[in-house]
Amino acid sequence: MKYTIYGKISGALLLILLLAGCGGTEEEAVPEEEQTESEADESPDEEAESEEMNSEEPEPFIDEEDIADEGSIQALVNKEHHLSADYVPEDLVPVEVPTVLESPEINQLRQEASDALTEMFDAALAEGITLYARSGYRSYNTQASLYDGYRAAHGEEAANRFSAPPGASEHQTGLAMDVTAESVNYELLEAFGETDEGIWVRENAHEHGFIIRYPEGKEEITGYLYEPWHLRYLGAELASDIYESGLTYEEYIRESGMDIEEDGE
Ligand SMILES: [Zn+2]
Repeated sequence: MKYTIYGKISGALLLILLLAGCGGTEEEAVPEEEQTESEADESPDEEAESEEMNSEEPEPFIDEEDIADEGSIQALVNKEHHLSADYVPEDLVPVEVPTVLESPEINQLRQEASDALTEMFDAALAEGITLYARSGYRSYNTQASLYDGYRAAHGEEAANRFSAPPGASEHQTGLAMDVTAESVNYELLEAFGETDEGIWVRENAHEHGFIIRYPEGKEEITGYLYEPWHLRYLGAELASDIYESGLTYEEYIRESGMDIEEDGE
């Protein structure tokens, strides 16, 4: 297992990598064209943490069975790995952070992710960063409605770049939350990535167990445009290792030697 070797190079990489792909809230509109400036000259501060793990081969943070288990915190969900239509997490709870929309459904996460979200929002606030939760859990049927709407409005090909077909959205896991801020009018915009709030999230979310699931420049791998707002909960250990690796979750799993079959193949 070699992923920790990426820790040393992750700083520069990571800061360039932040892009998109959630699967849509009402206004997860087609991302704007604005280009993100490279911030590779900023130096990250997590090298110290990663170095102490290089002395011997670490235990993998992921488990092949967990990745394939839709009820697991580590569940891999993407366009090739779908959740069943009737999957509903058993421990959904209302989030305890400021929210943007009224819908009770989308203001939920699984308990562990909700607790971590509260911790992260509190940590942000302590540094003067105010975050808002916009869209968390979505049922299969909610996702189907959203996706159908986008498809009707934009065509299937375009819709597929920023929205997920039902079963393919991480939001159905109850482990994904779209976050936003007043500075982007509480919407989900690529520009969020360049706000103080977006930068804070990018640099700190992993410490609370979340990764930016659809980084910039990784559309070919994740299947989605850059979404600096879409956070996926994986637990702090795994999220931090992925952060330090500079990889997407798909790449990280592959690098870890896990053999994940695609649905229907
Ligand atoms: Zn999302």
